[in-house]
Amino acid sequence: MSLPTLYFSPKLTSCKAQLDTFLSTHGYAVEWLEVERIDDSPVSSITLLSENDLKATDWPLLASRKAIIIVEKWSMEASIEWIKRGAVNCFSDGDEHTVSWLISEISQFALARSGRTDDDVLQVIIDAIPVPLFFKDHLHIYRGCNTAFCQFIGFSREQIIGHSVYDVAPKHLADAYYEADCQLLAKGGTQYYEAEVRFADGSIHEIEFNKAVFTRSNGQALGQVGVMLDITERNQLMRQLDKATRTDPLTGAANRREFDLIIHDEYEQQKNSNTPLSLMTLDLDFFKQINDRFGHGGGDQALQLIAEWLQNQLRSTDKLFRVGGEEFYILMQDTDIQSALKIAENICKGMSINTFLIKQQEVRITLSIGVIELDPMIELEHALEMVDRALYDAKFNGRNCVCPVYPS
Ligand code: GH3
Ligand code: MG
Ligand code: MG
Repeated sequence: MSLPTLYFSPKLTSCKAQLDTFLSTHGYAVEWLEVERIDDSPVSSITLLSENDLKATDWPLLASRKAIIIVEKWSMEASIEWIKRGAVNCFSDGDEHTVSWLISEISQFALARSGRTDDDVLQVIIDAIPVPLFFKDHLHIYRGCNTAFCQFIGFSREQIIGHSVYDVAPKHLADAYYEADCQLLAKGGTQYYEAEVRFADGSIHEIEFNKAVFTRSNGQALGQVGVMLDITERNQLMRQLDKATRTDPLTGAANRREFDLIIHDEYEQQKNSNTPLSLMTLDLDFFKQINDRFGHGGGDQALQLIAEWLQNQLRSTDKLFRVGGEEFYILMQDTDIQSALKIAENICKGMSINTFLIKQQEVRITLSIGVIELDPMIELEHALEMVDRALYDAKFNGRNCVCPVYPS
């Protein structure tokens, strides 16, 4: 059988020589390996470190090793501090208690290797849960996980259990996980958040994290459990549904619901930036005649072609909405009434000279337009009433023309 291996820092060369003499005197042969840094000693290994070896950034790695800290001057307070940071014990250089502790550890290590735990049933239960699940102790060391978590992280259970996040994730991510874990343990209770996560196969997923602290009966935190729910598909469906509720299915233009949502943001922005905002309302002239002549299908085709034509007239900052049967809005950012009127005139004229091919026949269609420069101090409802009246004026004036609402 192979000898148990003990790891030690080069600063402890003479301490190690003394310990080795004691151990062999009592019949315990061990192998010693020198490690420059704590990261170089394997997880779960017995590692002897000098207090001068360790920086605060090394502390998260202590608990995933059986770290023994050798201090120049032992005190109860210093010893407890090291144990709180994750060390298993703390001795002064030359303390013979180190020997008895090492013998006890070496003996238990041999026993543990042949034993099985009672946790097998629990493991079967958590493996049956199809979402990644893990639990860590109060020193952030993984103490359990299910198969789904192993697959997600891309490591075997043996490569995870007993390890700290610093052993399984790159440092920048481990820092973030460690920080979040510390916050949850300090606060207690549960934690919920969504985050984008890269899986072991490289794919990006949207994950809902649900974490909870488990405690002793006296409330002392023992560790935390985390469950990762993949909500990528659900979120995609919700985004598709949201887009569908904001889009007119016939023309693909934004609908009235989208207008209602957008206009409030635009009003807020306008209040802050003080840039002008204008709205054009357009109603097709004698559209009933198109339906009478080409049937409802022909009318639908005309609406699609007209929406496409209008879309092509817009600047990148303008937005087209189909707000009713053959009624459209065009919202124009950073546009005062004079500029809006010019754009409206161009659309009105351009439409009247354009020909649309409906059911193999060339058709001319005109429209009437009302235009208003929106003032965030005036209620939207009132502004819409005014621009509707301007549109009626355009109809009354013979159609195929533009009528503005001038600021009073
Ligand atoms: P006006 O110049 O006064 O606007 O005359 P108009 O015929 O366009 O009258 P109005 O605006 O009151 O009527 C619009 C017509 O548009 C009524 C309806 O038959 C038709 N319409 C509304 N929605 C649709 C649609 O989705 N598809 C089709 N094909 N026709 C529609
Ligand atoms: Mg109409
Ligand atoms: Mg009409």
